[in-house]
Amino acid sequence: MLVDTLGRPLQDLRISVTDRCNFRCTYCMPRDIFDHDYEFLPREDLLTFEEIERLTRIFADLGVRKVRLTGGEPLLRRGLETLIGRIAAIDGIDDLTLTTNGSLLARKAAALAAAGLGRVTVSLDSIDDEVFRAMNDADHSVADVLEAIEVAAAAGLAPIKINAVIQRGVNDGGIVAMAERFRHTGHVVRFIEFMDVGTANGWVMSSVVPTSEIVSRIHARWPLEPIDPAYRGEVAHRWRYVDGAGEIGVISSVTAPFCRDCSRLRLSAEGVMYTCLFATGGTDLKEPLRAGADDQALRDIVVSTWEARTDRYSERRTEVSLDLPKVEMSYIGG
Ligand code: SAM
Ligand code: SF4
Ligand code: SF4
Repeated sequence: MLVDTLGRPLQDLRISVTDRCNFRCTYCMPRDIFDHDYEFLPREDLLTFEEIERLTRIFADLGVRKVRLTGGEPLLRRGLETLIGRIAAIDGIDDLTLTTNGSLLARKAAALAAAGLGRVTVSLDSIDDEVFRAMNDADHSVADVLEAIEVAAAAGLAPIKINAVIQRGVNDGGIVAMAERFRHTGHVVRFIEFMDVGTANGWVMSSVVPTSEIVSRIHARWPLEPIDPAYRGEVAHRWRYVDGAGEIGVISSVTAPFCRDCSRLRLSAEGVMYTCLFATGGTDLKEPLRAGADDQALRDIVVSTWEARTDRYSERRTEVSLDLPKVEMSYIGG
């Protein structure tokens, strides 16, 4: 088993298939930075599906069992179901998922499921239409995302996880309404602490709503009890409603970091590998790949990178300078 300097195995792979997005979530791709002049990756720099498949085989051979496709907005990448079919067929990959903003999901869910996608996570930060539109800053409605969730569930991509990033003074007033909307549906809302990813989102500690506060607000309305983690390294802490209405998750990346169990590797759309969400630099695989490196040579790069890994940014957040030139979430993939 391939392990890093802290004994953490390589198990999860997040593949960003595009750095582009049709939303401009204020906490991720603020419009004043990601504007008309912003230079996204040129098409020829994106890894092709063949290249992604080849690298994923190498990662799977080294222990990766879970693959999540992300971005940017992954459903903007044309023909994504072809890539899903290729990854689903790789020996060792037993969990293939996708994180999406839901805007194109209703149209594509059936094809994605048919190609071999297991589940989807849909991001939805509020069920208040005005708040949601202000947050996505691209005029997308709550109704469209809710419809996409139902279509995806009907296509077999359930149970669906719903990611909600909570920011104080922005959408924290809707936490209980969000929980209520998804009680009794079988879908699981995961409340996420606003993170200091990248440098564009103007993060300050005071805008983080600690998950302890999120849980206590919901618990005051409908009592909750903790559920044991399903596996080591599970990112979300799970809670179930005592009345049997389902469960929620909370992702406490800021107030209760989980670096010691972090087994995730990220591959950017242009083939740079990152061993931490908060990395300032990565290891390029595209250049050797396109220069004709064989599988063993690519494998050696992955092995030496993972074996040298020391990342534990979230546990060191208070010691590390917040001015680091960290890569953006929309580039590295959430
Ligand atoms: N566009 C897709 C979407 O929004 O689901 C996939 C990519 S997005 C970067 C993946 C996840 O990261 C989303 O659930 C998003 O809400 C979350 N995210 C983005 N910026 C974040 C931040 N600063 N803190 C916490 N979560 C963030
Ligand atoms: Fe796009 Fe997702 Fe970032 Fe929102 S969170 S801007 S939908 S990549
Ligand atoms: Fe993993 Fe880095 Fe997040 Fe820690 S800060 S959990 S090492 S991605």
